[in-house]
Amino acid sequence: MKNIILLAPPAAGKGTQSSMIIEKYGLTHISTGDLLREKIKENSSLANEIKEYMKKGNLVPNKIILELISDRMEMSDCANGCILDGFPRNYDQAVSLDELLLKHNMKINAVINLDVKEDILRKRIVGRLLCPNCNAIYNDQIENMNSKEKGVCDICHSVLIKRDDDNIDTFNNRYNTYIKETRPLIDYYERKNILYTVNSENSANNVFKSIENIIDNI
Ligand code: ADP
Ligand code: ZN
Repeated sequence: MKNIILLAPPAAGKGTQSSMIIEKYGLTHISTGDLLREKIKENSSLANEIKEYMKKGNLVPNKIILELISDRMEMSDCANGCILDGFPRNYDQAVSLDELLLKHNMKINAVINLDVKEDILRKRIVGRLLCPNCNAIYNDQIENMNSKEKGVCDICHSVLIKRDDDNIDTFNNRYNTYIKETRPLIDYYERKNILYTVNSENSANNVFKSIENIIDNI
């Protein structure tokens, strides 16, 4: 059983790499971003509160995140190993995760840090399109990431949408939040000797090759 954390700035390719890892290694995908987007479909006051944080590109409060994550980690499919995508995102979440892992008698085998320069991230955000049905990700600004038919999912033929938080203003805030809150976790996991950094400016397939190399050797 292998448990992996994907650590990355916004739009570094966490979602794309997660799908490729799941397909090859059969790990369970746990994305706090997806869990939150699922949660805000409910029409509750909590849903509205979460929506505001996400729209602005701010982190959703730890208490909400930890409840979502601990419920998710109780589910039986996590016993096969999982991929944590978008969590932890700050120091407190990392400490809480350590406690949660201890409780479930689990450990993290590798933290994969996807490294991409800011100007490239910015370009990726502008063109990103998402399938609301199967979560496939496309980009109409990047040649080999375009859907075959404009605006339509290759896999399930749903109409692609743009995420509310995929605009330049929100990106700037998300990126600053990353620098301030999430990037310090690189040191946190380096000290635990489980950090692996991958250059994620290459094509998705090349990035995945580097990731396979890591997963096959842990
Ligand atoms: P990206 O990594 O591209 O920013 P995500 O889907 O991972 O996209 O996250 C989108 C938004 O969801 C974040 O900007 C933040 O508001 C919220 N979010 C996701 N994960 C967390 C988390 N672990 N802690 C707090 N907020 C989170
Ligand atoms: Zn689809």
